[in-house]
Amino acid sequence: MSLYPHAKFDLSANKARQFPSDTGREVAFAGRSNAGKSSAINAIVNRRQFARVSKTPGRTQLINFFTLQDGQRLVDLPGYGFAKVPESMRQHWGVLLQAYFTQRESLAGLILVVDVRRLLTDFDWQLLRLADAVAAPVHVLLTKSDKLKRGQATDALREAGKQLGSTATAQLFSATRKVGLDEARERMQGFLAAATDGVQTDN
Ligand code: GDP
Repeated sequence: MSLYPHAKFDLSANKARQFPSDTGREVAFAGRSNAGKSSAINAIVNRRQFARVSKTPGRTQLINFFTLQDGQRLVDLPGYGFAKVPESMRQHWGVLLQAYFTQRESLAGLILVVDVRRLLTDFDWQLLRLADAVAAPVHVLLTKSDKLKRGQATDALREAGKQLGSTATAQLFSATRKVGLDEARERMQGFLAAATDGVQTDN
C-alpha cells in the first residue's frame, strides 16, 4: 500500500518563476546522479515508477515537483555525475539550486542520497551548504548499504556521522533490500508535518 496513493507529478522547472505556488510544505531529495535517488524515492513513497518521470530525457537537469497529498510536495532536485560535466551545466545547476533554496518558503527539509561506498563528495557538501544557509534540516541516506558487509556499513555510518557533525542526521539505506525504509519515512514525514504551533505563515 502506498503511503500517498494520490501522489502525482506536477511540473518540471528550469527557472524559479516556473516553480509551483509556494504554499504548504515540501521535502526535497538530492543526490549525485547514479547515487540511487530515484530508487530511494520510489521505495519511500512505495510506488515503483514514481520518480521515473525525473529520469526522462530533458528532465534530469530540471527541478521536478510532485504532490504527495494536499499541501505536501516532494521535490526531486537535479544531480550530475563526476566525469566531464560541462562548466555551463554546472553553472546552471548552481544558479537553479541557489534560487530554489533561497526562495522556497515551503522547503521543510532536504533528504540527501549518498552512495555508502563513496560517502560525502564535493557535490554533497555544496548541497549541505545550500541547505545550511537557509537553516533547512538535512537527513542523509547512505544508500546501497546492501553492497557492503554489515561491519563496513556500520563503519561508513560512523564516519559519515563524524564528517557531518551537527550538520545533518544520517542512516543506512538500501532500496533494493528495503533497509531503513521506516526511519527514512519517519524523517520525511517529520519534515512534512506542519509546524502549526505558533508559526505564522502567509499560506
Ligand atoms: P539516481 O540516478 O540517483 O536516481 O539513481 P538510481 O535510483 O537510478 O540508481 C542508480 C543505479 O543504482 C541503478 O542501477 C539502481 O538499480 C542501483 N541502485 C539504486 N539503489 C540501490 C540499492 O539500494 N542497492 C543496490 N544494490 N543498487 C541500487
